[in-house]
Amino acid sequence: THFGYKTVEQEKKADLVADVFHSVAAKYDIMNDVMSFGVHRLWKRLTIETAGARPGMKVLDLAGGTGDLTAKFSQLVGDKGEVVLADINDSMLKVGRAKLRDRGIVSNVKYVQANAEALPFPDNHFDIITIAFGLRNVTDKDAALRSMRRVLKPGGKLLVLEFSKPQHEIMRKVYDTYSFKIIPKMGQLITQDADSYEYLAESIRVHPDQETLKQMMIDAGLEQVEYTNMTDGVVALHKGYKF
Ligand code: SAM
Repeated sequence: THFGYKTVEQEKKADLVADVFHSVAAKYDIMNDVMSFGVHRLWKRLTIETAGARPGMKVLDLAGGTGDLTAKFSQLVGDKGEVVLADINDSMLKVGRAKLRDRGIVSNVKYVQANAEALPFPDNHFDIITIAFGLRNVTDKDAALRSMRRVLKPGGKLLVLEFSKPQHEIMRKVYDTYSFKIIPKMGQLITQDADSYEYLAESIRVHPDQETLKQMMIDAGLEQVEYTNMTDGVVALHKGYKF
C-alpha cells in the first residue's frame, strides 16, 4: 500500500511464499532441471551475457535463492569485485551458501537475508542487479522496483528474468496444460508437495506480461527499458538503466 503497511491479503501472500520456499529449498535445484528440461540454464546464461559483469564490479543477485547466477558473477567480477546474494528466505540462503562453498566459491560473495521491497543497502551502490524468477513472488512489486533503482549506481543496470506470456496461442495452450496439470504432479512425485508447485503455476499465471512489466519498470524510474523473449515468451528478460 502507499501507507507503508500491509493488508491482510498481502501478509497472507508473504507467508505463503515463505512456506513454499522453506518447503522446496532442499530439492529446488533438481526440480528446476526437471521442470524446465534443463532450459533454465540457457535462460540464466543469456541473463549473465546481457549483464556484462566485469572485474571489480559490485553485483546484487536479488532473490538469488540457491545461487546459480551468483556463482557465475563471482567468477566474472574477480577478487576486486563483490557479489551479494540476497534472499528473504533463510532455507534457500542456506542451500545456496552450502552449494557455492562446495564449489570453492567463497572470497567475493556475501549472503544477506533481505526483503526486495526494502533493500538494506546504501543508495547508488551496485553496478548490476539481477532478479531471476523472484519478482513474481514479491508482494509489492512497485516498491521492490523502486528499491532496486535506489541501490543501483547511476549508469547501473537492472535485469529482471521472469516467466511471462507465450506469444503464440499453441504455445500458450501447451504451457498452460504443462504448468497446471503436469508440474504439480511432478512436484508431488519428487518432493511430496503438490501444493507448493500449484502455487508456482498460479503465480506464473497472474504475473504481469511483457508490456505491463516494462511499464512498471518505467514507472519505477528506470530508463531505456526493453525486453527479450525467450522460448516464445514463456520467459522474458527485461533490462533497464538508472541514469
Ligand atoms: N534466483 C534463483 C534462481 O533463479 O534459481 C531463485 C529463484 S526462486 C524461484 C525465488 C526466490 O525468491 C526464492 O528463493 C524466494 O525466497 C525469493 N523471494 C521471494 N520473495 C522475496 C522477497 N520479497 N524478497 C527477496 N527474495 C524473495
